Amino acid sequence: MIKTNNPKVSVIVPFYNDEDVLGRCLKSIYDSYYDDFEVITVNDSSSDHSLDVVRKFPCKIIDLKENVGVANARNKGADAATGKYLIFFDSDIVIEKDTLANFVNIMEKNEEKICQCSVSITSLTRGFAPDLIAISWNHNLENMAPYDATSVSTMAFCIDKEVFEKIGQFDTQFESAGGEEFEIGRVLRKRGYKIYTDKGFVVHHHFQHIFTRFKTLYKRSSVYARLVFRSRFELDKVHGTFKEGLNSMLSVAGILSFIMALFYHPLISALLLVMIIQTSIDYSLSVHIIKKRGLLFFLRSIPVNFLWYFAMGLGVINAAFSYVCDLLIAPFKLIRFFFSKDIPYVIFFVTANCNLLCSHCFNWKKIQGKSKDLSLDEISKISKKFGRIKYLTYSGGEPSIRSDIVEITQSFYRNNKVEILNFITNGLKPELIKKQVLAILRSCSSLNLMVCVSLDGIREQHDKIRNLSGAFEKAVTSINELKKIEKIHPKLMVFVITTFSKYNEDNILDVVDYVTKELKVEMGLTYVRGDTYKKEAKNVSLEQYVKAARLVRKGNIRNLKHLGVHRVTRAIHDLSYRYIEKVIRRDKNVIKCYSGSRLIEVGDDGTIFPCEPLDVKFGNICDYEYDIKKVMETKNAKEFIADLKRNKCYCTWECSMKNNIIHNPSSYPTLFWEWFVSWLR
Ligand code: SF4
Ligand code: SF4
Repeated sequence: MIKTNNPKVSVIVPFYNDEDVLGRCLKSIYDSYYDDFEVITVNDSSSDHSLDVVRKFPCKIIDLKENVGVANARNKGADAATGKYLIFFDSDIVIEKDTLANFVNIMEKNEEKICQCSVSITSLTRGFAPDLIAISWNHNLENMAPYDATSVSTMAFCIDKEVFEKIGQFDTQFESAGGEEFEIGRVLRKRGYKIYTDKGFVVHHHFQHIFTRFKTLYKRSSVYARLVFRSRFELDKVHGTFKEGLNSMLSVAGILSFIMALFYHPLISALLLVMIIQTSIDYSLSVHIIKKRGLLFFLRSIPVNFLWYFAMGLGVINAAFSYVCDLLIAPFKLIRFFFSKDIPYVIFFVTANCNLLCSHCFNWKKIQGKSKDLSLDEISKISKKFGRIKYLTYSGGEPSIRSDIVEITQSFYRNNKVEILNFITNGLKPELIKKQVLAILRSCSSLNLMVCVSLDGIREQHDKIRNLSGAFEKAVTSINELKKIEKIHPKLMVFVITTFSKYNEDNILDVVDYVTKELKVEMGLTYVRGDTYKKEAKNVSLEQYVKAARLVRKGNIRNLKHLGVHRVTRAIHDLSYRYIEKVIRRDKNVIKCYSGSRLIEVGDDGTIFPCEPLDVKFGNICDYEYDIKKVMETKNAKEFIADLKRNKCYCTWECSMKNNIIHNPSSYPTLFWEWFVSWLR
């Protein structure tokens, strides 16, 4: 063994109902030669005696009260890790005494960032099928060039902790094990990292029996095929080769011919032919099996492999079917949006806490830390009953202050199928925000995430408005860090949001220039409103706002870098300035308002209100069994919505204006024009 400098290693072992195998796994880890390591076990809410097994070892135990899935459990373990390297082991493996040292040697000596090893050719579970899996898996890994792996073998691998955090940990959207290993491989490659496979050492694995394996392969290939379709058919070199795809389809054809052979017997020969073709396609595996296990073992493997390929074929067909269905129903989703009773736009004041006290803050009375935020459990209950939310905005307080903001987002993403999340932050904690953003992007992979960092002036001016020296530097650091992630993550959009107030109206055009030309970021302009902390904040010139809004539109078109949904949202933003300008000039309503019915605000304590400019409350959702539908049935809500239809209320609140544009087809021609102009830039 090559001597190492012994950096500390964190070994993470998630488990769920693994009482039979866990003890052996942990014992083998504690028998290691390597001396500087900690073991973090994560109980994913087991219902057997796994916890009792774990308690016999001196490891850290994270005991999750809810079953969150293996990817999530691994992330929780990583959060608690203090080592330089993270080594993830599945609970059903056994390692050698030098496995930890081998991993560290490779990482240190070769300066690898991620490394995996091979697996022994014999399964720890006795039986023909487990041994066949072991030998096939061993063959796959042994035949791979050192940097050929495109997915990560999560049963045993080592990763630099910094890299793991940089890529935002495991994607937690996959309920069952499997998808996250393809996804993390894809993300690592995209970020320029190579996955090194060392064939010089192995771990021992408890593999499955024939039908359990059938189920696993069906699920995994289904998840994998979905990922392939979503990434526009980018095939994985190892797990999703053309060869495997072909064999899977051959098995499907073989099963079909078997069914037909029940009616026309000669067709049974097609089934035999399929098996012969599959064996020749898998020529090198066949030779490997014969060499290691003999001819009889090989002959027995042919029908079993045929069956497993069939499971994979079914998985691919299932994924293809749901992919095509998704494409077909896309236009109907748009129709549903207009006729559904769900409230598509929600502004959620996630917390009443803030690490600033800004002069223009309209929420300053609430953020004095007196009121109690909704708990994650309460938010989850609200989310479960809310229906679909298309556009969700986090406001506050400072949303990043909530340590459970990622879990809150996951809850909305899962329960409400949120498509766009607008995360407003003062940017005071760059590292924390970066971590949260990465975790959200990784766990909510189809979410369009807009992070709006507040910036109200240049240098000291911003600090003065925000009443904190250094606030500007922090906000700019946050913006620059987020821009780096934006470059590699198509779902992230970074914005600056500037509140137009007494304190920046004189040089607002410089501020717009600074943001759009120097920082090169798209921006939004918010007209100061509400009961501001310093009353004078609202003494502003409307003319100056109009000028600034025009400059913002120009700058945004120049900086536009996203395609798809973002171009449409940008057009909506820019059109909203034109409408606000009209409201200011004409001093009257220019577009029908949908606040209260198609836009709702949820306060940090659960109070539901229709809009910010008016002091109207519908009630507290917690008093209505966390059910928004019940709140919308209250007298207050019904009266407000009926009144709004009658009276021509108007205001300059940007959020409401954007919502009104979406719901008023009369604005579509102008919207289309804004969108078209963005392509002509
Ligand atoms: S404006 Fe935002 S960041 Fe400033 S004090 Fe209010 S809530 Fe906090
Ligand atoms: S026009 Fe403005 S103030 Fe009136 S209901 Fe709509 S959002 Fe509220």
